[in-house]
Amino acid sequence: MDVVKANAGRKRVLVAGGAGFVGSHLCDALLSEGCAVVCVDSFLTGARANVVPLENHPDFRLVTQDICSPLGVDEPLDEIYNLACAASPPRYQADPVHTMMTSVVGTRNLLELAQEHGARFLLASTSEVYGDPEVHPQPEDYHGNVNPTGPRACYDEGKRAAETLCFDLLRLGQVDARVARIFNTYGPRMQADDGRIVSNFINQALRGEPLTIYGTGAQTRSFCHVSDLVKGLMALMAVEPNPKTPVNLGNPGEFTVNELAALVREMVPEGSGVVCRPLPQDDPQRRRPDITRARTLLGWEPRVPLQEGLKETIAWFRLAHEAEKRITAA
Ligand code: NAD
Ligand code: UDP
Repeated sequence: MDVVKANAGRKRVLVAGGAGFVGSHLCDALLSEGCAVVCVDSFLTGARANVVPLENHPDFRLVTQDICSPLGVDEPLDEIYNLACAASPPRYQADPVHTMMTSVVGTRNLLELAQEHGARFLLASTSEVYGDPEVHPQPEDYHGNVNPTGPRACYDEGKRAAETLCFDLLRLGQVDARVARIFNTYGPRMQADDGRIVSNFINQALRGEPLTIYGTGAQTRSFCHVSDLVKGLMALMAVEPNPKTPVNLGNPGEFTVNELAALVREMVPEGSGVVCRPLPQDDPQRRRPDITRARTLLGWEPRVPLQEGLKETIAWFRLAHEAEKRITAA
């Protein structure tokens, strides 16, 4: 077959943060749709293991780089997804200045790359732009309640600034930019020790330790399975015309921290009770996405119920936990 013709319809996609939890699932999905993928990652919070299975794929290329440095990519690009940014509070607070720069300077660098290549751009923003919300559930036109000087600000304000850059360049007609506001997402390939609630609870239970409940445990979150999120991200990238507004992607099912702890304890019998820890500063009290816009514009809604997604995630962590135990015992 003529090679040029065979490649003519193939999309060439750059995924920044492609070695992370969500990014590696996105790379898998893009490759399975026949796209050529360039994954750019500094491995700050990503894992080589997430992309090792892809490294021999003829359409996959890995570039180890921090997006805060300008990127030069010689091959043509049709789409750029920016998922590069630590997402767990302890991880993004460990080097807050770098977190802020990743969202601001890194997004600017990737937008410039999109402009150079005429590529469509999607920013993985966050429900954290709503801060500790006074409106519930959160629609996209709610402007949020973020503490700009607190310990979460490096992440929240960084993402808000990244959104601003996207919408400015969109209004200027320079980049076809889209913004997904992602709510708490879980699934296989989360880092066991990244401090997020789902990975913490499952791994604490597997180790026979008590689950750590921060504060009273009455605060709520809405948990979306990673397979649903990836479909939403790809739908937002593909939709015509550009929605020109941010779009919430999340599962509207809302659970308290105590309810999640009870579910995990039921599903992982090795666990040993719960223990209370102080509530981190500025921890949002309630969070649930209004996904009317995603339903209307993208025809998207999440499909995986929490119990089902947790079962798969627990099985994945259990395998990793058992492999680690075998290595320690050897
Ligand atoms: P993750 O930490 O697993 O992945 C982030 C990836 O980006 C990692 O591979 C990391 O090494 C890489 N990275 C970080 N800073 C970088 C830099 N400066 N240059 C190059 N690479 C860098 O997190 P995730 O859960 O997969 O989140 C992916 C994206 O989605 C993030 O942008 C996050 O803000 C956003 N998001 C995630 C959630 C969630 O619940 N998972 C919720 C809201 C928003
Ligand atoms: N949380 C908890 N125990 C843990 C980890 C987190 O009670 O071991 C709480 C945390 O205080 C927050 C919620 O769970 O209220 C979600 O925390 P996570 O770090 O996963 O995400 P985010 O706060 O960014 O939504």
